[in-house]
Amino acid sequence: MKFTPEQYKIADVPMQPFLDDEEIWDFLNNVETTPEKVKAIVEKSLNKNRLNLEETAILAQATDPESIEIIKNAARELKEKVYGKRIVLFAPLYVGNYCSNNCRYCGFKASNKSAIRKTLTKEELINNVKALEEHGQKRLILVYGEHRTYSAEYIADTVRTVYSVKQGHGEIRRVNINAAPFDIEGFKTIHEAGIGTFQVFQETYHHPTYAYVHPSGKKADYDWRLTSLDRAMEAGIDDVGIGALFGLYDWRFELLALVRHVNHLEACYNVGPHTISFPRIQDADEYDLDEKFHLSDAEFTRLVAILRLAVPYTGLILTARESQKIRKEVLAFGCSQIDAGTKLEIGAYSENPEVDQNLHKEQFKISDDRTLNEVIDELLDADYLPSFCTACYRKGRTGEHFMEFSVPGFIKKFCTPNAMLTLAEYIMDYATEETAKKGWKVIERNMDSLGDERYIKEVRSRIERIKQGEHDLYF
Ligand code: SAM
Ligand code: SF4
Repeated sequence: MKFTPEQYKIADVPMQPFLDDEEIWDFLNNVETTPEKVKAIVEKSLNKNRLNLEETAILAQATDPESIEIIKNAARELKEKVYGKRIVLFAPLYVGNYCSNNCRYCGFKASNKSAIRKTLTKEELINNVKALEEHGQKRLILVYGEHRTYSAEYIADTVRTVYSVKQGHGEIRRVNINAAPFDIEGFKTIHEAGIGTFQVFQETYHHPTYAYVHPSGKKADYDWRLTSLDRAMEAGIDDVGIGALFGLYDWRFELLALVRHVNHLEACYNVGPHTISFPRIQDADEYDLDEKFHLSDAEFTRLVAILRLAVPYTGLILTARESQKIRKEVLAFGCSQIDAGTKLEIGAYSENPEVDQNLHKEQFKISDDRTLNEVIDELLDADYLPSFCTACYRKGRTGEHFMEFSVPGFIKKFCTPNAMLTLAEYIMDYATEETAKKGWKVIERNMDSLGDERYIKEVRSRIERIKQGEHDLYF
């Protein structure tokens, strides 16, 4: 097989496997890359077209410094031109780490007898959500091991609990999920609880590597996982998140496979994934893989820049697994979301002394453990506009990344003002004095970018209302 996106429309069938290792290698092995070709391809992205597999392969195979510079500059330009300064913030909340799989890279694997297993009780869940709200978090991703305990009903129930928790001015306005794949009925149950995005990472798209790193349990079934987000879409979940765990296999292969997955979802459902995640493997308890495919920082930053150009209208999620230094570099290539104030130990957000005495081991080590306020502070210093916006999802505007990208004026009309309003709310409720000062300045600097005088007046009036104590204002 070697198709164009149009041909995938005919070839791809919903809920049927679509990934052919040979096809991916065929592209990677048979492209020729020159700075001239790279220039022409990045022009295509800058003109807001997404790249096909062959073009992505040409960028992935470019190793000369000139081509790498062209790619990185283009990713920066695309970010500046299209998305502006906003960075959406969220926090992951681990609900339970019982797991019946044996993923070789994960500290939660069933065979790790030293892992302390824990599922948050309802009270502990509530206490953790309260603690997150007290820091100003508005968007969470709930994370679960793959275990019979975490059924669709159970997950839906935890989602409802999270939405019900209100602490001071705090509330969680968007709950995303990262959990094992379900059948269509299961996805429907979870959808009905009002989730935002459902994420399932394929980890590696390379069949033999997948089989090796997933030796047993339900996750050993490659195709069940590969087609899981098709079932989520069939169940009515419009926002799905794909991802690969970088370091298990050749990064260029995974990059092309992610683009192939985008092709498949677009071919079958007319809409690509809402987000792509690209975690880089971190050390974990009882980690037992060699480091042959580990990515250097230089490869990782190239990867993110190429991904930005290959799928210009898909949200890119960067996580606390990466160091502050790397985060800084790749944010400029157009990552749209980062987590902040992250704690991966189960129950660790809570101030409940009983849970605190009993801190549970995390799934893997993180390199960035700064508080939400510290991350916001750093973003403001770099002139980013931190955002807690959840407006599109609550107004039923799904596919917002696509709209940001393709609807003229969408960012000026919705995204930037909503980011400003949610930042103003954060400043009033949670920011330190110093962060507040910087925050108001950044809000003011972004005002001009809104253009229209009447609109600026309306945004200013809403910010005044927030200063007077109103909450949750959005466009
Ligand atoms: N159990 C579910 C699953 O495996 O899909 C969802 C939760 S799992 C904890 C979430 C993600 O963590 C996995 O999809 C994997 O990509 C990532 N992960 C696991 N071990 C990791 C490690 N050592 N370093 C970085 N990320 C890891
Ligand atoms: Fe379980 Fe997920 Fe960890 Fe695999 S990655 S062992 S499925 S928690």
